[in-house]
Amino acid sequence: MTRVLLVEDEPAIADALIYALETDRFVVTHVLTGGDGLSTFAKSEFDFMILDVGLPDMTGFDVCRKIREKSNIPVLFLTARDNEIDRILGLEIGGDDYVTKPFSPREITARVRAILRRSSNVAGVEAPAPLAATTARKPLHHDAVAMRIHCHGVCLDLTAHEYKLLLVLLENQGRVFSRDQLLEKAWYDPGAVTDRTVDAHIKTVRAKIRHASLGAEDYIQTRRGLGYVLVMD
Ligand code: CA
Repeated sequence: MTRVLLVEDEPAIADALIYALETDRFVVTHVLTGGDGLSTFAKSEFDFMILDVGLPDMTGFDVCRKIREKSNIPVLFLTARDNEIDRILGLEIGGDDYVTKPFSPREITARVRAILRRSSNVAGVEAPAPLAATTARKPLHHDAVAMRIHCHGVCLDLTAHEYKLLLVLLENQGRVFSRDQLLEKAWYDPGAVTDRTVDAHIKTVRAKIRHASLGAEDYIQTRRGLGYVLVMD
């Protein structure tokens, strides 16, 4: 088992990362501040550290400097800024890699794996084997009982029409629907609205998915002149 210490103060980002890492069979401990990160690190054993640079009490760089006084644990930095100086500083301090927000949670698990592979000779730590494609959870998941759709484990806050619209696309992945077909399937009274309404709702659904997937994913594709299709690979 590979134990990851995640230090990240933004709950939405942390939730999506925890979900992606646990889906990939990492064991995650999450703390919100640099101080808690250091005390948790001192108390337990970890194989990997994911450090947000912008923490409320100190920077992720400060945390890494302190960690490096006694440990060679692989460190991946997360930051909101795409700043070359930060990147170089982070790597000089002893970080192993650097990811700029927004990123997809799956990109992070892939980076963690790559870094662990690189450092496994030194640390003797192996990344867990990826789950078989057939058992891996899809990024979008429908809970039929609760009538909710989740994205990377985060419940999407959808209106009734947004929910029905996304559900039609989700239950027919890869199938292209025209605006008229979507109106027919997702609205009680399709005569009362125009196909512009579909476009407006697709736009808000996309924004909510992007938000839940930290800005990186766009599962709803536009087929010009034809309509919309949902694709998850
Ligand atoms: Ca932050």
